[in-house]
Amino acid sequence: MEITRENSPECMAYTDGPDGSTFCNAPGPFVVERVYDTSLVVCAEHLGSILLHAKNVQWPPAITWEGPGQRPPNTYTADQYAQREAEVHKRLFSKES
Ligand SMILES: [Zn+2]
Repeated sequence: MEITRENSPECMAYTDGPDGSTFCNAPGPFVVERVYDTSLVVCAEHLGSILLHAKNVQWPPAITWEGPGQRPPNTYTADQYAQREAEVHKRLFSKES
């Protein structure tokens, strides 16, 4: 199913700080991957604060575009991200020296 403005997941950032309790709930076109934790859906306004303050954010950041609208050129699709991760893993853990 194509993600549209109407069915897009909502931003999971708190509007009242990192330890807050009120979700932003704006449409969240970005997904930020975390280590041993669930991914976070975020809007453009909260992307920076999530990268800086959310727990277990993968570093360097892994940000994918889920839409709606056209993907910005500097974000990966989920497939592109998986391919990139495989290439990095191969480079880091190959037996060649
Ligand atoms: Zn937000």
